[in-house]
Amino acid sequence: MKLNFKTPILALALAVQTLGVISVEASERVLDAHEHGVSKLKLAQESNTIIFELEAPGNDIVGFEHAAENDDQKSAVNEALSQLQKPELIFVLPADAKCTASNQKAEFETEEDHAGFHVTWTMTCERPAQANAITVRFFEIFERAEEVELEAIGNSGQVAIEVEKGQAKVDISQAIGE
Ligand SMILES: [Zn+2]
Repeated sequence: MKLNFKTPILALALAVQTLGVISVEASERVLDAHEHGVSKLKLAQESNTIIFELEAPGNDIVGFEHAAENDDQKSAVNEALSQLQKPELIFVLPADAKCTASNQKAEFETEEDHAGFHVTWTMTCERPAQANAITVRFFEIFERAEEVELEAIGNSGQVAIEVEKGQAKVDISQAIGE
């Protein structure tokens, strides 16, 4: 059997897979920028301001990973973007913190083999010490999503949390504070 690989990374991933050193899933992750089922949410606090960035596989949000090709897919992308343009209603900070959302930006980005949603936004809080938890509505809105890897850094330190589907509230007090 003769195999020609277009890219060294593919050859490497397949070689590693053949040797059984790492799982198929892990070797796929070498090729892919993301893992299906897993979104990433990053928060960075600077005094009263918390900047958010969400990266979600297209698979988890609309169920496909290419540019929309028909009316159904176009409306699925548009519907997702309209939800993601109000991200402060998906990852909700406590009302006590008196935060205001701004600079919301949501995009559907497509690459050769994958596609994903990229969302950024800013929360400015009158009482940032109260912004110590997030109510997660992501999994009820996007039913295909399974996990959010959350990383937060702020006035109180930093924390990394794997938020699983079904978890409605996340404590981020180790990171976000006065
Ligand atoms: Zn993908």
